[in-house]
Amino acid sequence: MALFRGRAPFAEDRIRQEETIIQAAQARGGIQFSVMMRAALLGLMALPLYGQTFDLVIANGRVLDPASNLDAVRHIGIRGGKIAAISTTALGGRATIDATGLVVAPGFIDLHSHGQTPENYRFKARDGVTTALEMEVGANPVGSWYAEREGRAPINFGATSGELPSRMAVMHDSGKLLPRDKAVERAATPEEFANILARVGRGLDEGGLGIGMGIAYLPHETRAEVLELFRLAAQRRVPLYIHMRNGGPLEPGVIDALQEVIADAAATGASVHVVHITSMGLREAPLCLAMIQGARARGLDITTEAYPYTAGMTDLGSAIFDEGWQQRQGGIGFGDLQWAATGERLTADSFAKYRKQGGYVAIHSIPENIVQLAMANPLVMIASDGILEEGKGHPRAAGTYARVLGRYVRELNSLTLMEAVRKMTQMPADRLAMPAKGRIANGADADLTIFDAAHVTDRATFESPARYSEGIPYVIVGGTVVVNRGELVPNATPGRAVRR
Ligand SMILES: [Zn+2]
Repeated sequence: MALFRGRAPFAEDRIRQEETIIQAAQARGGIQFSVMMRAALLGLMALPLYGQTFDLVIANGRVLDPASNLDAVRHIGIRGGKIAAISTTALGGRATIDATGLVVAPGFIDLHSHGQTPENYRFKARDGVTTALEMEVGANPVGSWYAEREGRAPINFGATSGELPSRMAVMHDSGKLLPRDKAVERAATPEEFANILARVGRGLDEGGLGIGMGIAYLPHETRAEVLELFRLAAQRRVPLYIHMRNGGPLEPGVIDALQEVIADAAATGASVHVVHITSMGLREAPLCLAMIQGARARGLDITTEAYPYTAGMTDLGSAIFDEGWQQRQGGIGFGDLQWAATGERLTADSFAKYRKQGGYVAIHSIPENIVQLAMANPLVMIASDGILEEGKGHPRAAGTYARVLGRYVRELNSLTLMEAVRKMTQMPADRLAMPAKGRIANGADADLTIFDAAHVTDRATFESPARYSEGIPYVIVGGTVVVNRGELVPNATPGRAVRR
């Protein structure tokens, strides 16, 4: 990271020097460098750190930093909310966490967290998330959205400037998170669309982290309107976070939808993040990933994400459940829908009743082999798409990160621990173009997640989604401990607004 290299005060550079010296000596002599020599060298190199006091020290942890591929026992010194030392020898701090036997990783960054309330932040923190961002739906107006959370959140928060909330406001739709009537039933007039575009632009002026789009929720959104939003993103040099127009194998399905996104990115130069590729692609997800890889190889900036579950969730009152949903979802039926409020599986009758009322429903539509393939694919970041409302919702809101580490890394070996952490930290930080996040390096923000790789596990289920993950004893946000010995620290609100 060029940003840190320029002003790296000491530890990391010295560790690199030391390793270089050791490697050079080994290469020259062709013999094992003696333990004594190494110890002497370490002592010598560590001298300037001696006696320094840090605000907080994380001692003896297995530090895992995907950006530098560091995987070794280190001591981390934190000062002023930043990482100030990464050392092979002990550091002195006003407070110390003994991380012996634990993994110390950069704090997890969730690019897709609809839940932006105190309730949701608690579950995110217990799942190891230090930054939760609402990028797909986004917010609008953006300024007031940030103001409501400033100084009150245990973890970092942020949002894109959302097209959906802009459209709901301009067209007077009665939906809450997602449109359900006026914005669904008809197209916007040219005047209305001009207002929508202006609102989205104002949201960017107010710090929005990009443009959020949910094309599938707007059956009358034209291809020209989508292209206009891409042009705005390109002009303003911000990425779009997109729930594509269609999903599933049946045409017009996910292939057409991804072609629209790739074509518009190519035509405008905009950067795009395609959300939840598994629930969109279903059994065509491998082809979608190949398309994204191909587009990237030809210079387009396209990224994607998935959550580690075989069901999605959305509002039963939304356009997703317009006529033909069974086929569009890959050939499912009423019994594959699970009403979040009660956990019951639906029938034709209960479907009709609840659709009028609106509310969250789980859609059991994603094959397990597709989830495993997405976890293993190096292009796919981890993101939850979660939201809890008074304990009801999808377990992904509470368990996404622990589930990847427990089920997909430890139990199924779908990917390595380093790759999993990369998908949770460095990759989303790079998507955000925020080099101070998602890494353990001198000068980086001291957002850290400390977990027990042998025991970390998700506990949330579709029947009981509001259950904290386990095996994540410490979570640190900007140098402040928010989870201590596995418990939330009451009234800790170090979370900062992440904005452009
Ligand atoms: Zn979505």
